[in-house]
Amino acid sequence: MFETLPHPKPDAILAQMAPFKVDTRPDKMNLGVGVYMNDKGETIILDSVKEAERRLLEQETTKTYVGLAGDVAYNEAMKEIVFGDAAPAGRVYGLQAPGGSGSLRVLAELMARMRPNAKVWVSTPTWPNHYALLKTGNIEIAEYPYFDPETCSVDFDAMTAKLRTLGSDDVVILHGCCHNPTGANLSPAQWDEVAEIAVETGFLPFFDIAYQGFGDGLEEDAYGVRKFASTVKEMLVAVSCSKNFGIYRDRVGCAFVMGGTEETATLANENIQNIARGMYSMPPDHGASVVRIIWQDPELRQQWMDELKTMCTRMTSLRNLLAESFRKQGGGDRFDFVAVHRGMFSLLGLTPEQVDKLRQDHAIYMIGDSRVNIAGMQEQNIDRFVAAVLEVTQG
Ligand code: PMP
Repeated sequence: MFETLPHPKPDAILAQMAPFKVDTRPDKMNLGVGVYMNDKGETIILDSVKEAERRLLEQETTKTYVGLAGDVAYNEAMKEIVFGDAAPAGRVYGLQAPGGSGSLRVLAELMARMRPNAKVWVSTPTWPNHYALLKTGNIEIAEYPYFDPETCSVDFDAMTAKLRTLGSDDVVILHGCCHNPTGANLSPAQWDEVAEIAVETGFLPFFDIAYQGFGDGLEEDAYGVRKFASTVKEMLVAVSCSKNFGIYRDRVGCAFVMGGTEETATLANENIQNIARGMYSMPPDHGASVVRIIWQDPELRQQWMDELKTMCTRMTSLRNLLAESFRKQGGGDRFDFVAVHRGMFSLLGLTPEQVDKLRQDHAIYMIGDSRVNIAGMQEQNIDRFVAAVLEVTQG
């Protein structure tokens, strides 16, 4: 029977890992894969995570199921991290889920239950896996304008013009911070305006926040979610701990529902638990316990926040060095946006041919849409990278 199966389209991000591996050129650069790397190109385990794992191993007394919502104390910790003081009392519930992806999927199913004919709006462009994770039932996926490839920044006028036309059957996916793949983000004043539009039009905001702390800081990066939490009646928030705790393979995330009243929030909470039961029953425990242990211990929490800051500062300083190098090597101000972008990624605005040329002639690997992982660079190869980009764009 298997012969009737179609060949799925290869994942663009995962597909380019294989040719990189077999490339024997010693100065090859992998800017494609979406994980944080330190200045030696390694994705190490944070010290705070190692210590929490040690404690977990020592203290754990049972492996019995954690319950449908997962670890309730973990969900509380995540609520504090993401919402701060902005969560309206009794109206926000969290569900521990397998990664940001699992959270997105659970909330997509909830959306399909509430509004079987909803239209979900994603930014142009967005993280490609959004299409697969959000597509369920009759849900239609549409795109709102977001990135202006001319300026490599947000086309806010076009974005808000589209959002103003939406209504209560529309759901809008908003990247909480560090937009993937573009790196271009909304300012606090722009978040305020989008929140007002949500109130006026009644569209349902659905946040995806996967890089909190990778942009301007843990608090700063939560501005959008918190502004909405204190402005709109209802919203959905999918959170990933993969990047900011560096625990990618442990699959740690949280799906939040915020209801207009305590009653409707409870109802939504019952439903996400019921949805999770039908998908994977219970979430994996290890990574979520690590996050809980870190957050609950003041010293470990501080250590984690320092480690997060180190990752964040490294990316910001690489961005500044890149922009400087572009100017120094004759790129003018065209690439200044790299220093303004935030998070792990920037979309450089190159053509697929230019991206191919970078791979063939310079052993520089990025995603076909010209998304680069800033953390994949090292100070000592910035000038080489910039020279290569200028050669393919100007040559
Ligand atoms: N949302 C966005 C925008 C992402 O970039 C990612 C990770 N690439 C996720 C969600 C999901 O992350 P994970 O499932 O690995 O926690």
